[in-house]
Amino acid sequence: MASILVVEDDDAIREALRRALVERGHAVATAATGLAGLEHVLGQAPQAVLLDLGLPDVDGLTLIGMIRAASEVPIIVITAQDDDPTMVKALDGGADDYVVKPFGTTQVEARVRAVLRRGGDRSQAPEPIRVGELVVDEGTRTATLAGRRLELARREFDLLLALAQRGGQVMTKREILAEVWHQPYGGGDRTVDVHLSWLRRKLGETAAEPRYLVSVRGVGVRLVDPDAG
Ligand code: CA
Repeated sequence: MASILVVEDDDAIREALRRALVERGHAVATAATGLAGLEHVLGQAPQAVLLDLGLPDVDGLTLIGMIRAASEVPIIVITAQDDDPTMVKALDGGADDYVVKPFGTTQVEARVRAVLRRGGDRSQAPEPIRVGELVVDEGTRTATLAGRRLELARREFDLLLALAQRGGQVMTKREILAEVWHQPYGGGDRTVDVHLSWLRRKLGETAAEPRYLVSVRGVGVRLVDPDAG
């Protein structure tokens, strides 16, 4: 559970986000204007901010700069359309991630969890995660198996990291799509399967004889230490 601030002038969207996040156990504050949001960030130091870029009083990109001048709080921006130049500016300006309207609240919650996992303190790199002889280092975005560096494409690394962060728990394909591809909806099962098979090959295993990547039929996949128990 985390303290989250939602800055959104659209009453319906703000309320839907608030309700969805509260349902997931978060403590949620809301603001309908940029300045009210900024005041909350400065006064209450929330752990994450969901920020609509189209606000009535302050330009969203300006607001990101104002928040960043005072705080390292993770910011997820919300934008009305898939506006790449604005997104790039927002990310360059210090936003951590983004969602495009219309979005599902499950997707938003997954993004919030992801930025919280990455943590608000950018100066401190996360500890590498060890699973058997596999080491996944988020800070350097590298993975090694028995000390040998794995040549992973970006998505392959993201997928491996997401699974490593689950600590042996099963991830469903839908969760993988949400966290790695930022796509909680729309049939991307095949995409996940293809990347899993590439990852398996690089880990020196096959679906028929898995070691680290164990599929759970009809559910998903988990990353395990093949030599444990
Ligand atoms: Ca708006």
